Amino acid sequence: MKSLAEIAAQLQGYDPKALSADAVNDFLARLVEPVRETEDVPVMEALGRVVARDIVSPISVPPHDNSAMDGFAFDGALLAAGGTIALDVIGTAFAGKAWQGTVGPGQGVKIMTGAIMPAGLDTVVPQEFTQAQDDKRVTFPADTLRRGDNRRLKGEDLQEGKPALAAGTRLGPAACGLVASLGLARVPVFRKLRVAYFSTGDEILSLGEAPREGAVYDSNRYTVHGLLTRLGCEVIDMGVVRDEPALLEAAFREAAAKADAIITSGGVSVGEADYTKAMMAKLGDVAFWRIAMRPGRPMAVGRIGSSVLFGLPGNPVAVMVTFLAFVRPALLKMMGAAAPAQPYLRARSAEAMRKKPGRTEYQRGIVSTGKDGQLEVRTTGNQGSGVLSSMVQANGLIVLHHAQGNVAAGDAVDVLVFDGAI
Ligand code: AMP
Ligand code: MG
Repeated sequence: MKSLAEIAAQLQGYDPKALSADAVNDFLARLVEPVRETEDVPVMEALGRVVARDIVSPISVPPHDNSAMDGFAFDGALLAAGGTIALDVIGTAFAGKAWQGTVGPGQGVKIMTGAIMPAGLDTVVPQEFTQAQDDKRVTFPADTLRRGDNRRLKGEDLQEGKPALAAGTRLGPAACGLVASLGLARVPVFRKLRVAYFSTGDEILSLGEAPREGAVYDSNRYTVHGLLTRLGCEVIDMGVVRDEPALLEAAFREAAAKADAIITSGGVSVGEADYTKAMMAKLGDVAFWRIAMRPGRPMAVGRIGSSVLFGLPGNPVAVMVTFLAFVRPALLKMMGAAAPAQPYLRARSAEAMRKKPGRTEYQRGIVSTGKDGQLEVRTTGNQGSGVLSSMVQANGLIVLHHAQGNVAAGDAVDVLVFDGAI
């Protein structure tokens, strides 16, 4: 476990008061480590979990050559003659049991989708291509097929003894199905990451409390809870912690004892009058950053005990943006996920945007398909860092990169789509 000073020493031009978004991710990637403990879980409970070691196929999938269509299996060598092919149908191969007969020249077998290809037959003519002459004889034009058509090969999906899923894969619905197709009932996964969250700030009201002048309801608790749940973390929800040193200290100590990561919101900006920053500095190895970004800017990062601390700003949009831009990739690494970097989508900006080089800006965007079929993005109305409705309307963040300047209408921009993250 490296100290913050050790990590900082490895980075060129590290300046906690002026960090680029890329430098933040670089720093965090060096700060966090994947969890070690693993467990075997039933496939039905594996969705969203991360595979802990390479899974090697114990079998081939499919286990036999089989038919991809309902039709008639025959020896594809017959096609070479051209013209009309006639088959004497000498039996039926059903899915689930092998057809045992032997096939002579000019003979074929009626076959169902998924049935094992009878020995010596390598091609299937779909039922709808054929004409039945009588019960026992079908014909079809040779030029509708090539040898091997409509036959699935043994092991064409997965081969016995070969890696089927690599460690670090996040199990989506397809991967869960793939594990099941191997006949495996359980999957080795990393244990769930435990993440504690609390909101700070004396002006923050919990639900159920009566409104009072100058106070706002705690929305960050709910956005962060949702973001963590979507990631598949175990959330330790600690609500609002009042701005009293003893309460803050107890909360940080409890969170550090229980969780792999602690996320807080509020109290980390330069002008803060409350005790949050002081308590972080007292209890842990913590850096207070100013990030060249909008929205966001202040963020505290470090460790309290062996827990990683992400002290996010208080503004509701800034919380979500800093979570998506920095915390999410770091948590994915802690979860054991390999190469989590999410690709940007490239879309044409429907409008001009003012942008100063030297900081990364995250505008809330709505991506749609333009009249010409190309992707187009426009911003949601008010881009204020407290305007949570902008996050509700958006389906992605337009990322205007550090060095980028003004954007003209029609320019292509990068969009981080919310997809399953939000
Ligand atoms: P701070 O980072 O503490 O200066 O807070 C910035 C702004 O975000 C202030 O307007 C706070 O009232 C607001 N804020 C802080 N925490 C929360 C929260 N948990 N829910 C909603 N708004 C918040
Ligand atoms: Mg505050």
